[in-house]
Amino acid sequence: MLDFAIIGGGPAGLTAGLYATRGGLKNVTMFEKGLPGGQITQSSEIENYPGQIDVVTGMELMDKWPEQCKKFGLKHEMSDVKNITKKDDIFTITFGSGNTIDAKSVLLATGSIPKSSGVKGEAEFFGRGVSTCATCDGFFYKGKDVVVLGGGDTAVEEAIFLANICKTVYIVHRRDTFKASPHEVDKLKKYDNIELIMNHTTQEIIGDNMGVTGVIVKSKETNELRTLEVMGAFIFVGREVLNQTLIQEDGSFLCDVTKSGEVIVDLKMRTNVAGLFAAGDIRVDASKQVICAAGDGAVAGIGAISYLQ
Ligand code: FAD
Ligand code: NAP
Repeated sequence: MLDFAIIGGGPAGLTAGLYATRGGLKNVTMFEKGLPGGQITQSSEIENYPGQIDVVTGMELMDKWPEQCKKFGLKHEMSDVKNITKKDDIFTITFGSGNTIDAKSVLLATGSIPKSSGVKGEAEFFGRGVSTCATCDGFFYKGKDVVVLGGGDTAVEEAIFLANICKTVYIVHRRDTFKASPHEVDKLKKYDNIELIMNHTTQEIIGDNMGVTGVIVKSKETNELRTLEVMGAFIFVGREVLNQTLIQEDGSFLCDVTKSGEVIVDLKMRTNVAGLFAAGDIRVDASKQVICAAGDGAVAGIGAISYLQ
């Protein structure tokens, strides 16, 4: 029986583990299906984490977090959590393997994953030219032309990262203004090898048995079609929360969630189910920043201590 089970090892889960163990909880385990660090480890540059003056990669930023938690007694297991249920006062966590473990309190910090654009060819060529991670796959397109789809912070930042590796980066956005912060957009505009294709929709990602060969875009103003001859298409059109572990046998959610599936919490990261907390990108109104996810995690860790007392 665990005192506190943490599901997800991103900034939220790791910080909750740090605060819970350093605050005196003895029996705390963090279940993470991959390596700890979370989605930020896919980012090529972070410059808005307080105190971090030099620009670092996501990997560099998260490097020491697990070690710091371990020092205070956080246990870590590499496991894929399938389901969380609650009976009487006890939660049961079921893993992909079918094994289960019980816990007195639980934090859901499973974050989010890239959203699909729904563009024809995206699924067909995924992993064969279509990617959602520039840091992971950018190098395969060294000296080649690529498309970036989207207009938010991720699209703009990752287009800049790719521009340092690739020959030409086309950034295709469906509106004539970016959603990304003006600071990032100003940086983007300084690159000669980034071509902005604004106010265009993406019609199709095309290719052959070797992979992607092009992306067809359409002007919203003139309806004119243009084929961009590229070998890679990077899709950054937002993210969706990972809340599947909350789904119960009858299809309902273990706790209250919004229409788009974000977990509803109060200011102490408590859900409407006693002992169940949610933190980071998965929660309602999340600012989707490392510092915010870490802050939520700290609140949830402290909250778990109070709950168990
Ligand atoms: P996540 O980081 O998503 O971590 C969740 C973890 O849970 C993951 O490790 C996942 O493997 C694990 N998990 C999921 N489901 C399960 C399961 N069923 N069982 C076990 N484990 C599971 N923020 C900034 O502040 N500055 C930036 O510059 C910045 N740049 C970004 C660039 C990119 C490319 C991306 C994608 C994001 C960026 N962000 C940035 C946003 C930031 O990364 C997130 O807001 C933050 O990581 C959210 O933390 P989290 O702990 O809530 O979730
Ligand atoms: P986002 O902010 O939701 O932006 C998604 C972009 O994709 C928008 O420009 C949107 O267009 C476009 N889009 C959505 N669906 C589309 C579709 N089907 N086809 C084509 N375009 C589509 O997502 P994000 O950029 O991944 O960022 C997610 C969160 O992480 C944000 O809160 C962001 O601030 C944060 N983040 C922060 C940093 C940083 O602080 N430096 C870096 C990365 C991410 P519209 O503009 O028309 O809606």
